Amino acid sequence: MTINTTDTKDTKNWNSEKSTQLYGIQNWGTGYFRINPEGNVMVTPTGTQGPSIDLYELTQDLLDRGIRVPIMIRFQDIIKSRVELLANCFHKAIADHGYKGEYCGVYPIKVNQQRHLVQDIVKFGRKNKLGLECGSKPELLVVLALMNTENAVIICNGFKDVEYIETALLSQKIGRQTIIVIDRREELFLVINAAKKFNMRPKIGFRVKLHTQGTGKWVDSSGARSKFGLTASEIMEGLELLKKEDMLDCLELLHYHIGSQIPRIQNIKSSLKEAARFYTELYKLGAGLKYIDVGGGLGIDYDGSGFTDSSINYNEQEYANDIVSVLQTICEERGVPNPNIVTETGRALTAHHSVLVFNVLGVNNLYRSEPPRPALKADPSVMQDMQYIFEKMNRDNINECFNDLTQAKQEAQQLFVYGVLTLEQRSWCENMYFATATKMITIAKSVPDAEDIVITLSQELCDTYFCNFSVFQSLPDSWAVGQVFPVMPIHRLNEEPSREATLADLTCDSDGKLEKFINVETGKPQKTLAVHPFSEKNPYYIGVFLTGAYQEILGDLHNLFGDTDAVHISLTEGGYTVDHYVPGDTVTEVLSYVQFGRSEMVDSVRQATEEGLSGYTYLEDPE
Ligand code: PLP
Repeated sequence: MTINTTDTKDTKNWNSEKSTQLYGIQNWGTGYFRINPEGNVMVTPTGTQGPSIDLYELTQDLLDRGIRVPIMIRFQDIIKSRVELLANCFHKAIADHGYKGEYCGVYPIKVNQQRHLVQDIVKFGRKNKLGLECGSKPELLVVLALMNTENAVIICNGFKDVEYIETALLSQKIGRQTIIVIDRREELFLVINAAKKFNMRPKIGFRVKLHTQGTGKWVDSSGARSKFGLTASEIMEGLELLKKEDMLDCLELLHYHIGSQIPRIQNIKSSLKEAARFYTELYKLGAGLKYIDVGGGLGIDYDGSGFTDSSINYNEQEYANDIVSVLQTICEERGVPNPNIVTETGRALTAHHSVLVFNVLGVNNLYRSEPPRPALKADPSVMQDMQYIFEKMNRDNINECFNDLTQAKQEAQQLFVYGVLTLEQRSWCENMYFATATKMITIAKSVPDAEDIVITLSQELCDTYFCNFSVFQSLPDSWAVGQVFPVMPIHRLNEEPSREATLADLTCDSDGKLEKFINVETGKPQKTLAVHPFSEKNPYYIGVFLTGAYQEILGDLHNLFGDTDAVHISLTEGGYTVDHYVPGDTVTEVLSYVQFGRSEMVDSVRQATEEGLSGYTYLEDPE
């Protein structure tokens, strides 16, 4: 991508198709997102067809209704589309292969536990018996409260104490299909004791620690050193114990999980091959197995490259086909009935449905079109050197000038530290450096071998757009694991985005910024985003897409920026409805999370603070 140094608008030679190319929206938008001829992002929540909504106009409408940026906009029709897509892929694969088992998906609520979302997932999944997965005692309570689909499976994973296990067991008494997965060998004793206490036949699963590892950011979820799961010898021990207790028929499920966002289908297949061997062996040894639970891991395409860890080299149908065919082949070979297939897909069901929209507050710009006053004879030699570079630089000596400029910059900084340069002189050097670098980029662009100079200086000089959001609250994976999210302006896309910027958030942390963006040409992340020139008179809105999985729930209160306002939107014939409005945290609320009571604070600070306490934690419109 070329990096422009001017903010001249090129409206004539630019259009929404060029923006579509630039931001790669057709690669990651999966039909849900595109750009309309007016240059705004459109959302089509049912997929490529069906009703659409202009995201920019929607944002304006929401602001008019008093909802504040940053806003998390959740499209529940996208959830419906994802839930149906996955089930349909498995039904198709099962029908095409003549597979004898059923598909029983579960949604792991840890991926996003927002009540309205989980309720939607249960509602949209009802006809396909979509169940839920929990990973802790509180999550089990949520699952029991929300899951009312007949015969849908509930999977209990995670660390378990007696209370967790007893609650899970008792839920069987009220008709739930709750399967307790043994993640650590100690848990089996607890389950056996609890079952004896209640005189019940528990539904038990074993989580196996596979040797086969995944790839990607969550690679440590499997392999010998993974946190959860039973080794082959622990599985044999467990089987012996169940046999002794006459409970072999209670072992109904075999589970594994090789990590989230698996980028390559090859890893999905190879881990399943290993797991299928465990399944068939256990079956032959007398276990009452009915289900194989392949865990999560179905990835989504955050960057559209097809080869990075933020992308995938397969689609949902290929995922389903491969799972069905591997299981069928190995089960047939061993004469074992086809198991029902449980998936614990979270990310691929929820990521697409949320878009974070925020406004830009201001810009820090280092490009200089004019140099400072000319250096005088009396000025230190470093200033004269810089003046010389600025004047004499041309296409032939560009490499030499680049090296000299870099050296002069370092020298100026050192001379200031040694007390040789005054503050005024250091400021002159700084301005001259940026003016020279600006001119150098323009010249270097016309020199075939000077691409490195263009990239290095453009990255150094790129704008910083200060934005009204917190990376830590709304996009923690971008900070924690370097996840690339699709980011782009949601309007003005008929106008050339002639600036390159990094996006800084409101926190006072130097990590609080977005510096990894999609580069469609190379497929590898780039440090800057192409944006439009910003003017304070015209609000400028940026959207971060595919944020519905993990981000909200992992987000934290760094600098006490709380939850953003959130709205649940569904599309109607010719319009939309706001099904739920979930106001973001107030200052009072976030202060109470760190044990500051509103009344004590109001007592101890001036009345003027009162107003601030009812405010939104993000920057508000002065009006
Ligand atoms: N199941 C288990 C045991 C997990 O640890 C996870 C998350 O890593 C999931 C399911 C969900 O995975 P994903 O969101 O990749 O589908």
